[in-house]
Amino acid sequence: MTAPEIAIKDLTLGLKAERLGKSFPGRDAQVIAVSDVNFAVAPREVCILLGPSGCGKSTILRMIAGLETPSEGSLTLNGELITKPNRERGMVFQGYTSFPWLTVRENVAYGLRINGDVSAMREGTVDHFIEQVGLTRVANAWPHELSGGMRQRVALARALANSPKLLLMDEPFGALDAETRWQMQELLLSVIRKERMTVIMVTHDVEEALLLGDKIVFLSSHPGRVKEILHPPFKNDTSITTREELRSHPEYSMMETKILKMMREEGNH
Ligand code: ADP
Ligand code: MG
Repeated sequence: MTAPEIAIKDLTLGLKAERLGKSFPGRDAQVIAVSDVNFAVAPREVCILLGPSGCGKSTILRMIAGLETPSEGSLTLNGELITKPNRERGMVFQGYTSFPWLTVRENVAYGLRINGDVSAMREGTVDHFIEQVGLTRVANAWPHELSGGMRQRVALARALANSPKLLLMDEPFGALDAETRWQMQELLLSVIRKERMTVIMVTHDVEEALLLGDKIVFLSSHPGRVKEILHPPFKNDTSITTREELRSHPEYSMMETKILKMMREEGNH
Protein backbone atom coordinates (compact mmCIF):
# COMPACT_ATOMS: atom_id res chain seq x y z
CA MET A 1 0.00 0.00 0.00
CA THR A 2 2.52 2.61 -1.08
CA ALA A 3 0.26 4.68 -3.33
CA PRO A 4 -1.59 6.62 -0.57
CA GLU A 5 1.76 7.58 1.02
CA ILE A 6 3.00 8.99 -2.26
CA ALA A 7 -0.26 10.87 -2.64
CA ILE A 8 0.10 12.50 0.78
CA LYS A 9 3.60 13.70 -0.07
CA ASP A 10 2.27 15.42 -3.18
CA LEU A 11 2.19 19.02 -2.04
CA THR A 12 -0.67 19.92 -4.34
CA LEU A 13 -3.02 17.60 -2.42
CA GLY A 14 -5.12 18.63 0.52
CA LEU A 15 -6.20 22.04 1.70
CA LYS A 16 -3.84 24.96 2.06
CA ALA A 17 -4.45 28.33 3.69
CA GLU A 18 -1.70 30.81 2.86
CA ARG A 19 -1.49 34.28 4.39
CA LEU A 20 -5.26 34.11 4.66
CA GLY A 21 -6.99 37.28 5.82
CA LYS A 22 -10.53 38.57 6.04
CA SER A 23 -11.84 42.05 6.90
CA PHE A 24 -15.41 43.21 7.23
CA PRO A 25 -16.64 46.79 6.94
CA GLY A 26 -17.17 48.13 10.48
CA ARG A 27 -18.94 51.24 11.82
CA ASP A 28 -15.78 53.42 11.80
CA ALA A 29 -13.08 51.27 10.24
CA GLN A 30 -12.57 47.82 8.75
CA VAL A 31 -12.85 44.96 11.25
CA ILE A 32 -9.98 42.57 10.69
CA ALA A 33 -11.54 39.20 11.57
CA VAL A 34 -8.64 37.00 10.44
CA SER A 35 -5.06 37.91 9.54
CA ASP A 36 -2.06 36.03 8.10
CA VAL A 37 -3.45 32.55 8.81
CA ASN A 38 -1.36 29.66 7.48
CA PHE A 39 -2.08 25.94 7.81
CA ALA A 40 -2.39 22.82 5.69
CA VAL A 41 -4.66 19.79 5.93
CA ALA A 42 -3.48 16.57 4.28
CA PRO A 43 -5.87 14.02 2.77
CA ARG A 44 -7.52 11.89 5.51
CA GLU A 45 -6.46 14.32 8.20
CA VAL A 46 -8.90 15.78 10.74
CA CYS A 47 -8.09 19.42 11.44
CA ILE A 48 -9.75 21.24 14.31
CA LEU A 49 -10.03 25.03 14.40
CA LEU A 50 -10.07 25.87 18.10
CA GLY A 51 -10.05 29.16 19.93
CA PRO A 52 -12.12 31.62 21.95
CA SER A 53 -15.38 33.03 20.71
CA GLY A 54 -14.90 35.69 18.03
CA CYS A 55 -11.41 34.58 16.96
CA GLY A 56 -12.55 33.93 13.38
CA LYS A 57 -13.16 30.16 13.31
CA SER A 58 -16.48 30.38 11.46
CA THR A 59 -15.09 33.01 9.11
CA ILE A 60 -12.23 30.69 8.10
CA LEU A 61 -14.61 27.74 7.65
CA ARG A 62 -17.01 29.82 5.55
CA MET A 63 -14.13 30.88 3.30
CA ILE A 64 -13.15 27.21 2.88
CA ALA A 65 -16.78 26.43 2.01
CA GLY A 66 -16.65 29.22 -0.57
CA LEU A 67 -19.36 31.23 1.20
CA GLU A 68 -17.02 34.16 1.89
CA THR A 69 -14.17 35.52 -0.22
CA PRO A 70 -10.75 36.06 1.39
CA SER A 71 -9.59 39.69 1.59
CA GLU A 72 -5.96 38.56 1.60
CA GLY A 73 -4.01 35.42 0.73
CA SER A 74 -5.45 32.24 -0.69
CA LEU A 75 -7.17 28.95 -0.04
CA THR A 76 -6.55 25.98 -2.32
CA LEU A 77 -7.95 22.45 -2.36
CA ASN A 78 -5.84 19.93 -4.28
CA GLY A 79 -4.01 22.83 -5.90
CA GLU A 80 -7.14 24.62 -7.07
CA LEU A 81 -8.15 28.00 -5.76
CA ILE A 82 -11.43 27.98 -3.82
CA THR A 83 -13.72 30.65 -5.20
CA LYS A 84 -17.27 29.39 -4.66
CA PRO A 85 -19.25 26.64 -2.90
CA ASN A 86 -18.88 23.15 -4.35
CA ARG A 87 -20.27 19.71 -3.59
CA GLU A 88 -16.74 18.44 -2.93
CA ARG A 89 -16.75 20.56 0.23
CA GLY A 90 -19.74 19.37 2.29
CA MET A 91 -20.86 21.50 5.23
CA VAL A 92 -22.66 20.47 8.44
CA PHE A 93 -23.98 23.45 10.39
CA GLN A 94 -24.76 23.68 14.07
CA GLY A 95 -28.50 24.08 13.72
CA TYR A 96 -30.58 21.12 12.74
CA THR A 97 -31.17 21.32 9.00
CA SER A 98 -33.43 18.75 7.38
CA PHE A 99 -36.72 18.84 5.54
CA PRO A 100 -39.74 18.09 7.75
CA TRP A 101 -41.74 16.75 4.79
CA LEU A 102 -39.13 14.10 3.92
CA THR A 103 -38.41 10.88 5.84
CA VAL A 104 -34.96 10.19 7.30
CA ARG A 105 -33.99 8.13 4.25
CA GLU A 106 -35.29 10.80 1.84
CA ASN A 107 -33.45 13.50 3.74
CA VAL A 108 -30.18 11.57 3.51
CA ALA A 109 -30.79 10.93 -0.21
CA TYR A 110 -31.69 14.55 -0.93
CA GLY A 111 -28.24 15.87 -1.86
CA LEU A 112 -27.65 12.90 -4.14
CA ARG A 113 -30.96 13.41 -5.87
CA ILE A 114 -30.26 17.02 -6.76
CA ASN A 115 -26.78 16.01 -7.87
CA GLY A 116 -28.29 13.48 -10.27
CA ASP A 117 -26.84 10.18 -9.02
CA VAL A 118 -28.38 7.01 -10.47
CA SER A 119 -30.84 5.38 -8.11
CA ALA A 120 -29.19 1.99 -7.41
CA MET A 121 -25.95 3.63 -6.38
CA ARG A 122 -27.83 6.19 -4.38
CA GLU A 123 -29.81 3.64 -2.37
CA GLY A 124 -26.68 1.66 -1.48
CA THR A 125 -24.90 4.84 -0.41
CA VAL A 126 -27.85 6.16 1.53
CA ASP A 127 -28.40 2.93 3.48
CA HIS A 128 -24.69 2.61 4.19
CA PHE A 129 -24.52 6.01 5.85
CA ILE A 130 -27.84 5.60 7.64
CA GLU A 131 -26.33 2.48 9.16
CA GLN A 132 -23.04 4.24 9.94
CA VAL A 133 -24.82 6.84 12.05
CA GLY A 134 -27.11 4.26 13.68
CA LEU A 135 -30.43 5.35 12.16
CA THR A 136 -31.43 2.13 10.36
CA ARG A 137 -34.28 1.50 12.81
CA VAL A 138 -35.83 4.91 12.11
CA ALA A 139 -34.99 5.22 8.40
CA ASN A 140 -38.66 5.66 7.49
CA ALA A 141 -39.53 8.01 10.36
CA TRP A 142 -40.21 11.73 9.99
CA PRO A 143 -37.83 14.29 11.49
CA HIS A 144 -40.38 15.45 14.11
CA GLU A 145 -40.42 11.92 15.54
CA LEU A 146 -36.69 12.08 16.33
CA SER A 147 -34.62 13.47 19.21
CA GLY A 148 -32.20 16.38 18.64
CA GLY A 149 -29.23 13.99 18.57
CA MET A 150 -30.91 11.78 15.98
CA ARG A 151 -31.71 14.80 13.82
CA GLN A 152 -28.10 15.87 13.91
CA ARG A 153 -27.18 12.34 12.79
CA VAL A 154 -29.49 12.79 9.79
CA ALA A 155 -27.61 15.98 8.86
CA LEU A 156 -24.29 14.14 9.26
CA ALA A 157 -25.45 11.14 7.17
CA ARG A 158 -26.67 13.48 4.44
CA ALA A 159 -23.31 15.26 4.28
CA LEU A 160 -21.47 11.92 4.26
CA ALA A 161 -23.68 10.45 1.51
CA ASN A 162 -22.45 13.17 -0.84
CA SER A 163 -18.90 11.77 -0.39
CA PRO A 164 -17.32 15.19 0.04
CA LYS A 165 -13.58 15.41 -0.50
CA LEU A 166 -13.59 17.63 2.52
CA LEU A 167 -16.20 17.58 5.28
CA LEU A 168 -16.66 20.94 6.99
CA MET A 169 -18.39 21.21 10.36
CA ASP A 170 -19.07 24.33 12.39
CA GLU A 171 -19.74 23.36 16.01
CA PRO A 172 -22.05 20.59 14.81
CA PHE A 173 -22.88 19.39 18.31
CA GLY A 174 -23.10 22.81 19.97
CA ALA A 175 -26.88 22.64 20.43
CA LEU A 176 -26.94 19.15 21.96
CA ASP A 177 -27.04 18.24 25.64
CA ALA A 178 -23.77 16.99 27.15
CA GLU A 179 -24.59 13.29 27.03
CA THR A 180 -25.89 13.29 23.45
CA ARG A 181 -22.92 15.36 22.45
CA TRP A 182 -20.58 12.69 23.73
CA GLN A 183 -22.45 9.97 21.91
CA MET A 184 -22.16 12.00 18.70
CA GLN A 185 -18.45 12.64 19.19
CA GLU A 186 -17.77 8.93 19.71
CA LEU A 187 -19.94 8.11 16.70
CA LEU A 188 -18.15 10.66 14.53
CA LEU A 189 -14.78 9.26 15.63
CA SER A 190 -15.76 5.78 14.48
CA VAL A 191 -17.19 7.03 11.16
CA ILE A 192 -14.11 9.17 10.45
CA ARG A 193 -11.83 6.20 11.13
CA LYS A 194 -13.85 3.82 8.94
CA GLU A 195 -14.37 6.21 6.05
CA ARG A 196 -10.86 7.72 6.32
CA MET A 197 -12.28 11.16 5.79
CA THR A 198 -10.69 14.57 5.50
CA VAL A 199 -12.41 16.90 7.93
CA ILE A 200 -12.13 20.48 9.10
CA MET A 201 -14.17 21.10 12.22
CA VAL A 202 -14.71 24.22 14.26
CA THR A 203 -15.21 23.88 17.99
CA HIS A 204 -14.46 25.59 21.26
CA ASP A 205 -14.79 22.29 23.15
CA VAL A 206 -11.31 21.15 24.19
CA GLU A 207 -12.25 17.49 24.76
CA GLU A 208 -13.90 17.31 21.35
CA ALA A 209 -10.81 18.82 19.73
CA LEU A 210 -8.50 16.32 21.45
CA LEU A 211 -10.69 13.29 20.72
CA LEU A 212 -11.20 13.94 17.01
CA GLY A 213 -8.24 15.99 15.77
CA ASP A 214 -5.00 14.89 14.12
CA LYS A 215 -4.15 18.55 14.14
CA ILE A 216 -5.47 21.41 16.25
CA VAL A 217 -5.01 24.89 14.81
CA PHE A 218 -5.32 27.10 17.88
CA LEU A 219 -6.33 30.66 17.04
CA SER A 220 -5.87 33.80 19.08
CA SER A 221 -8.32 36.66 18.70
CA HIS A 222 -8.55 40.24 17.42
CA PRO A 223 -7.48 39.58 14.80
CA GLY A 224 -7.65 35.80 14.46
CA ARG A 225 -4.16 34.41 13.99
CA VAL A 226 -2.62 30.97 14.41
CA LYS A 227 -1.11 30.88 17.88
CA GLU A 228 -0.03 27.26 17.85
CA ILE A 229 -0.58 24.00 15.95
CA LEU A 230 -0.84 20.88 18.12
CA HIS A 231 -0.87 17.21 17.12
CA PRO A 232 -2.88 15.09 19.56
CA PRO A 233 -2.19 11.34 19.28
CA PHE A 234 -5.67 10.07 20.20
CA LYS A 235 -7.65 9.90 16.94
CA ASN A 236 -5.46 7.21 15.41
CA ASP A 237 -5.08 5.26 18.67
CA THR A 238 -7.77 2.63 18.15
CA SER A 239 -7.61 1.59 21.81
CA ILE A 240 -9.57 4.81 22.39
CA THR A 241 -13.24 4.64 21.43
CA THR A 242 -14.93 6.32 24.40
CA ARG A 243 -14.65 9.44 26.49
CA GLU A 244 -13.43 7.47 29.52
CA GLU A 245 -10.65 5.89 27.47
CA LEU A 246 -9.63 9.32 26.17
CA ARG A 247 -9.56 10.87 29.60
CA SER A 248 -7.53 8.07 31.17
CA HIS A 249 -4.84 8.20 28.48
CA PRO A 250 -1.52 9.30 30.06
CA GLU A 251 -1.03 12.20 27.63
CA TYR A 252 -4.57 13.53 27.82
CA SER A 253 -4.51 15.68 30.90
CA MET A 254 -1.24 17.37 29.98
CA MET A 255 -2.59 18.40 26.58
CA GLU A 256 -5.94 19.46 28.02
CA THR A 257 -4.26 21.65 30.64
CA LYS A 258 -2.03 23.27 28.04
CA ILE A 259 -4.99 24.15 25.80
CA LEU A 260 -7.18 25.36 28.68
CA LYS A 261 -4.35 27.66 29.70
CA MET A 262 -4.12 29.06 26.16
CA MET A 263 -7.90 29.55 26.11
CA ARG A 264 -7.73 31.45 29.41
CA GLU A 265 -4.86 33.68 28.19
CA GLU A 266 -6.82 34.52 25.04
CA GLY A 267 -10.06 35.10 26.94
CA ASN A 268 -8.37 37.64 29.21
CA HIS A 269 -7.36 39.92 26.34
P1 ADP B 1 -15.87 32.57 15.86
O1 ADP B 1 -16.56 31.63 14.92
O2 ADP B 1 -14.47 32.16 16.19
O3 ADP B 1 -16.66 32.82 17.12
P2 ADP B 1 -16.38 34.53 13.77
O4 ADP B 1 -15.64 34.00 12.62
O5 ADP B 1 -17.85 34.33 13.79
O6 ADP B 1 -15.71 33.99 15.12
O7 ADP B 1 -16.12 36.10 13.89
C1 ADP B 1 -14.82 36.66 13.90
C2 ADP B 1 -14.90 38.18 13.91
O8 ADP B 1 -15.41 38.63 12.67
C3 ADP B 1 -15.84 38.72 14.97
O9 ADP B 1 -15.27 39.90 15.47
C4 ADP B 1 -17.11 38.99 14.20
O10 ADP B 1 -17.83 40.04 14.80
C5 ADP B 1 -16.59 39.40 12.84
N1 ADP B 1 -17.53 39.05 11.76
C6 ADP B 1 -17.85 37.78 11.36
N2 ADP B 1 -18.72 37.81 10.34
C7 ADP B 1 -18.97 39.12 10.08
C8 ADP B 1 -19.78 39.83 9.12
N3 ADP B 1 -20.51 39.18 8.22
N4 ADP B 1 -19.79 41.20 9.18
C9 ADP B 1 -19.04 41.85 10.08
N5 ADP B 1 -18.24 41.26 10.99
C10 ADP B 1 -18.20 39.92 11.00
MG1 MG C 1 -18.38 30.56 15.11
